[in-house]
Amino acid sequence: MPGYGVLAHPWWVPVLWIVILGHVTNICNTLYLHRSVTHGGVSFSPITEHVMRFWLWLTTAIVTREWVAVHRKHHAFADREGDPHSPEVEGLWPILLANVFFYRKAAQDQELLAKYGDGCPDDWMERHVYSRHRSLGLLVMLLLDAFLFGPLVGLIVWSAMSIWMPIFGGVINGIGHAKGYRNFKTRDHSHNIYPWGIWILGEELHNNHHADPRSAKFKAHWWEFDIGWMYIQILRLLGLAEVEYARQESAKTFARKHWS
Ligand SMILES: [Zn+2]
Ligand SMILES: [Zn+2]
Repeated sequence: MPGYGVLAHPWWVPVLWIVILGHVTNICNTLYLHRSVTHGGVSFSPITEHVMRFWLWLTTAIVTREWVAVHRKHHAFADREGDPHSPEVEGLWPILLANVFFYRKAAQDQELLAKYGDGCPDDWMERHVYSRHRSLGLLVMLLLDAFLFGPLVGLIVWSAMSIWMPIFGGVINGIGHAKGYRNFKTRDHSHNIYPWGIWILGEELHNNHHADPRSAKFKAHWWEFDIGWMYIQILRLLGLAEVEYARQESAKTFARKHWS
């Protein structure tokens, strides 16, 4: 078949594929799921939003309402009893290695979804495809990878892409609440893991985020670089995004006002 297995060689092509497309998954996660739907700091044009929803369906099997509700509960109970995934409550290693299981357990709680799941998409595609057939996207991606890379390399590429978000989720929810520095004396144990976590697109500035959750901009100091915020600026210049709220005050002023 023409094109079958065409990307399997040389070895760096599949590696580059995983890194670049994993980066796209991180973009959709932080921009759409987190900064837009969960916290309302930014909104996107309908097409931009739908492209991100489609990509998350293809690569993660995440249902928007579940992710949003679990994360809102995390903010409501951060590092206290009731937090779905706190290293303070469960220990660092369980969250780091098995965050996805804590997430799945919380996502099955119908009361939690009803209480924290407001404002999520509920259109035809959501009801009939993305939520109802959450794993179908992963299957489509598996067939595409098998076609482009052949069965063995295709399976390896697909597996790496499928565990991409669970790995980053463990790092943010584990290390982001245990190690690093703090700009704001929030009541939780959130920490910034910058610059080590820079590839998580700003999510590594986790203490900054907990201090001002609605802000679409996570960076607080000039020397912190928030890649997700950079992408929001690019989309805004293209007329594809609108910033609803981004903290303007300096870190010092904001800390004095809210977290002294
Ligand atoms: Zn957190
Ligand atoms: Zn958040």
